[in-house]
Amino acid sequence: MFRRIKYKSEADFAKLRQSARVVAVTLAEVAKHIRPGVPLTYLDQIGEECIRDHHAIPSFKGFEGYPAALCLSVNDVVVHGIPKAGMYLNDGDILSVDCGALLDGFHGDFAYTFAVGEVSEEVRLLMERTKESLNKAIEVAVAGKTVGDIGHTVEAYVGKYNYGVVRELCGHGIGKDMHERPDIPNFGRPDSGDRLQEGMCICIEPMITLGSHKIYMEKDGWTIRTRDHKPAAHYEHQLAITAKGTEVISSYKLIGEVIGTNELY
Ligand code: MG
Ligand code: MG
Repeated sequence: MFRRIKYKSEADFAKLRQSARVVAVTLAEVAKHIRPGVPLTYLDQIGEECIRDHHAIPSFKGFEGYPAALCLSVNDVVVHGIPKAGMYLNDGDILSVDCGALLDGFHGDFAYTFAVGEVSEEVRLLMERTKESLNKAIEVAVAGKTVGDIGHTVEAYVGKYNYGVVRELCGHGIGKDMHERPDIPNFGRPDSGDRLQEGMCICIEPMITLGSHKIYMEKDGWTIRTRDHKPAAHYEHQLAITAKGTEVISSYKLIGEVIGTNELY
């Protein structure tokens, strides 16, 4: 089905900033509770309460039947991990927390991968470089560039380290719907695909693996794992392409205050 790109007004962007703010606060709140031994369902409960405390609605809960407020993806789970009873964090795990919040008709959606306790050096580097690939992609995500420029930037950066780029899942436009056009793959040819224009709101979300890029979906219809069970990292930022330039409306700064990192955005 053809879906057209929905361009946002300045009033829409104002609302999108508020939704993104709820997600930023929620991810930081969840971050306070990430440690070995914590049940994933508890983190989901913390996230849902925080979203609702801000008079927003969890975007993911009920989306095509998704049962939780957060996607909590541990180690070889790339994305869409469902928090289930009996799942706990262990020292050395990595956890991608993906959060969406609907406020005043517009969605916020972004994600951060956390280290649980002490992680191995190769996994720490995977996380650092995945985040860096996102930062590099943000630099090229300006009006006039294309989704191919974004994908190529991610792919070229992580390719230096022989990491895998998940191909079946991608970033997306966002607004009144959580997933709008254009699709934003994490690979591509420069100067190809949809062109970025003023009024677009987009999510860029590299999903990068330590081994092969190949994935499979579990029988629950959601959980996406690497086929070789090597870990995957996932970061997502939400951008407004405006007349004044590109603004990263998501923020990791509150997360950084909790976990002691200095975040660029
Ligand atoms: Mg997204
Ligand atoms: Mg997301």
